[in-house]
Amino acid sequence: MKILQSLKTLYESFIDKLFPTDIKCLLCGRDLPDNNFFCEKCEEEDIYNEGPRCVKCDTMIKEGNLICDDCKNSHRYFEKCYCPLNYNAKVRSAILKFKDDNARYYAKPFAELIYNRIKDENLQIDFIMPVPSHKNVIKRRGYNPPELIAKELALIMHLPVKQALIKNVDTTAQKTLSYQERQDNLRDSITRDRKIDIKGKSILIVDDVITTCATVNACALLLQKSKVVYACAVARTTKDWRTPMTQSQEKK
Ligand SMILES: [Zn+2]
Ligand SMILES: [Zn+2]
Repeated sequence: MKILQSLKTLYESFIDKLFPTDIKCLLCGRDLPDNNFFCEKCEEEDIYNEGPRCVKCDTMIKEGNLICDDCKNSHRYFEKCYCPLNYNAKVRSAILKFKDDNARYYAKPFAELIYNRIKDENLQIDFIMPVPSHKNVIKRRGYNPPELIAKELALIMHLPVKQALIKNVDTTAQKTLSYQERQDNLRDSITRDRKIDIKGKSILIVDDVITTCATVNACALLLQKSKVVYACAVARTTKDWRTPMTQSQEKK
């Protein structure tokens, strides 16, 4: 039986290699010749968050700098952010599809992209925690996008997913506020679930996009009893995206 099973697996992987099925570019839907995430055309469009980046929040910075002005000027309660993609128009449209058009199939490749970004960092994580969403938002959308990514990432990393925070207030309408206003509102809208033990734990927070760091910072602040908090997201905005940020640009 075992031999038959291995022969079948071997045959299937051989066929897969010969005739790759359903491998399409995540951004434009073009068929791909190999098992990649993006086609060559999309890869030319600055989709990867690479080059000089802030050691704290992973946003692009000027060559020679270590830390961005925002991280220099405001306290970050998380250790470091990891974001594989650059939140440009193409990436943004894929993420909005994932978040608002029920395109849940993005969760797996998004998690793989995040994993590729963090796998060599040697992070010792105890559990993965999606950014919490208010129950009305989950009801409206049918799912919590960061939670779908967190679950896929947890499968890859063989780690548990735990939700140590509760979002008590729907802050959807607060996207146009300044960093400080958002930070204050978020702080009041999230509480810690004391049933989840965080003392001495290393936690990896998962979000879809990191824009101002207000959300992950508010979460990390509430998780201060833990040992360390890292954050990751599919994409990171660059400075140009931050102002002005209107609701139509970033729906959450
Ligand atoms: Zn493409
Ligand atoms: Zn920074």
